Amino acid sequence: MNKNLRKTVIAGNWKMNNTRIETKKLISELIPLVKDASCEVIIGVPFTNLETAIEMTKDTNIKVAAQNCHWASSGAFTGEISAAMLKELGVEYVILGHSERRQYFGETSLTVNQRLRAALDNNLKVIMCVGESLSDRESGITQNVVAIQTKIGLSNITKQEMKDIIIAYEPVWAIGTGKTATSDQANEVNKYIREVIASIFDKETADKTTIQYGGSMNAKNADELLSKEDIDGGLIGGASLKSEDFSKIVFATK
Ligand code: PEP
Repeated sequence: MNKNLRKTVIAGNWKMNNTRIETKKLISELIPLVKDASCEVIIGVPFTNLETAIEMTKDTNIKVAAQNCHWASSGAFTGEISAAMLKELGVEYVILGHSERRQYFGETSLTVNQRLRAALDNNLKVIMCVGESLSDRESGITQNVVAIQTKIGLSNITKQEMKDIIIAYEPVWAIGTGKTATSDQANEVNKYIREVIASIFDKETADKTTIQYGGSMNAKNADELLSKEDIDGGLIGGASLKSEDFSKIVFATK
């Protein structure tokens, strides 16, 4: 089964949640809960909590992600953080192109690609998010949208670099809404994204690429979603803020 060719990854996206005190509490709860996980476990924390998270997880199986990085190495970009700054802290992953960045902060597939280039050049691994809006889906252009986001996001990336890139398929209408894509809907788009990756690189690269699903994944629906052939893990928002729920999702991976 091709699923065995790729790593399963459960990543929490904390978004703009948790002070340092709350971060310490949540990570202390998580460490024992997920220590026997068979999948890779990542927490994506706000910039201000990165150091705390890295320090607390250093002898554990939890990896730490930032939620964005800038494409330039330094310069007049007030409020931004470079990939090199993240690397220096000991960050391993960065989430790029989340739909909230696209929706509220003018992120485009082009700037996602620039950020991705900077991340890889600084030896960071990337979770790149793609996904259609409700009106895209209702207009029947889901495949076009995710193909364009994937192709532009991955332009000028080599197939060797794909080992450091995870794709997260996140239908915008399912994020934070409690509306989950059915496991068949999610699997169908993940499978299609894999075909797009095969068309850019080759089938072997596509078969080895971890493609997560994200959008209201929770302790109840994770089993069903994660049992699908082309769903190799999850990017979890709301449910990643509760240690019990997040760990149930971690252990829903087979
Ligand atoms: C996300 O933020 O990536 C996400 C999937 O959020 P939620 O799980 O809350 O829908």
